[in-house]
Amino acid sequence: MRLLMLGPPGSGKGTHGTRLSEEHGVVHVSSGDVLRAELANGTPLGRKLAGYLAKGDLVPDDVLFELLVPIAVSAAQDTGGFIADGFPRTPAQARRAYQEIGIDRDLPLQAVVSLVVPEPVLMQRLLDRARVQGRADDTPEIIQHRLDVFREQTEPLVDYYRGRRILLPIDGDQSTDEVYVEIKTGLAERGIIP
Ligand code: AMP
Repeated sequence: MRLLMLGPPGSGKGTHGTRLSEEHGVVHVSSGDVLRAELANGTPLGRKLAGYLAKGDLVPDDVLFELLVPIAVSAAQDTGGFIADGFPRTPAQARRAYQEIGIDRDLPLQAVVSLVVPEPVLMQRLLDRARVQGRADDTPEIIQHRLDVFREQTEPLVDYYRGRRILLPIDGDQSTDEVYVEIKTGLAERGIIP
C-alpha cells in the first residue's frame, strides 16, 4: 500500500497514518518527524533546518528530498509500501516526488487521504496538543502561520491529486474512530485494502 496523508496541521494525519501503518505492516513516514529527528541529532543538515522548523516555514526541497526519498524507497522495498505523512506538501514537491519515486522507482501513490477539518477546530486541537506534547512550533502565532502555509502552499494539492484521480476526501471533523472507519471504507472501495 502506498498512501499519502494530506491535511492541515492537527487534522489527524499522524494519528490515522500511524494506525493504518500498524494495521497493515507498512512504514509510516512522517516528514515532520524525520526533520525533527535530524535537528535533534545535531547534524550539519539538522542545523540548517532549525530556523525553518522553529518558524513553521517549509524547508527547502533539496534537503527534504535528500532525506525523504531514500526512506520512502527502502520502506517500500522492506515492507511493501509506505504511508507518507506531510510529504509532498506543495505542487512542486508533488511533481518531483511523482518523477523520482513514482516513475523512476515505479512506486506511484495509490491514494491520497485528504482530511478536511474547519480551521477553528484545528487551532483548538493544536493548542490542546501543545499542552500535552510541548512541541516548540505549537504556539498560537506559529500554529496560525502553519495553517496559513497549509492554505497557501499545500491546499492546491487537493486539486492536483483529484486531477490524477487518486484523491480520497475524508470528513476529519468526527470522532477518531469514525474518521478511521471512513478512511478504511474508502480504501476498501478502491481495492487498496481488503
Ligand atoms: P509537521 O510535523 O508535518 O507539522 O511538520 C513540521 C515542520 O516540518 C513544518 O512546519 C515544516 O517546517 C517542516 N516540514 C514537514 N514536511 C515538510 C515538507 N514536505 N516540505 C517542507 N517542510 C516540511
